[in-house]
Amino acid sequence: MDIKDIIGSNNKNTTLVAVSKTKPVEKIQKIYNEGQIDFGENRVNELIYKYNLLPKNINWHMIGHLQRNKVKLILPFIHLIHSIDSVRLINKIENESRKINKKTNILLQVHIAKEETKHGFTFSQVKDLFDNDFFNSFEYLSIRGLMGMSTFTNDKNQIRKEFNNLKLLFDEIKSKFNKVNKNIILDSLSMGMSGDYKIALEEGSNIIRIGSLIFGERE
Ligand SMILES: *Cc1c(COP(=O)(O)O)cnc(C)c1O
Repeated sequence: MDIKDIIGSNNKNTTLVAVSKTKPVEKIQKIYNEGQIDFGENRVNELIYKYNLLPKNINWHMIGHLQRNKVKLILPFIHLIHSIDSVRLINKIENESRKINKKTNILLQVHIAKEETKHGFTFSQVKDLFDNDFFNSFEYLSIRGLMGMSTFTNDKNQIRKEFNNLKLLFDEIKSKFNKVNKNIILDSLSMGMSGDYKIALEEGSNIIRIGSLIFGERE
């Protein structure tokens, strides 16, 4: 599928992240040559390998579970981390970002699916973090918004409900906390993959993460 057809010309404020996990650098270079600069990976080692070989103006997005001992490896170049799922990870990123004197953009991953396996904060955990001024003490984080993955199901109403719930949470924290703190810049809602991005866009997503539609199925 042509990348330009995915978002559509009337959706200029939406970022399409081309999810290139498991795909070789030659394929990524080809998509880059067509004008795509945002790419997403879910494994640190693979991300670093590709970062080293590919053009340096690529915006790299970390979309997979991130271990604390690997944080420092990606901070010097990462554009946005979508998959922040614990307070310990937030603290680690603050500390490592301070060491290199560089701000790091993060999204809080929220558990919206029925499956137990998907990582992320619960809705009430997210609300607690904001209600308790948790972020006030951080200097090297930019909290840019939320990320969520819907249940793997054919039930479109279920998917729509999950995305809608996340959008409502996003709007709620945004109305209360946007710009009260220089680290909280709530402008990004990352939801939608190859199978459900159209629903996600209808429900207010402005970052979609598309793998197989662009690169073909993964082996
Ligand atoms: C793999 C992956 C995607 C892309 O999935 P597709 O169905 O291939 O579009 C999006 N987000 C996350 C977090 C992923 O791990």
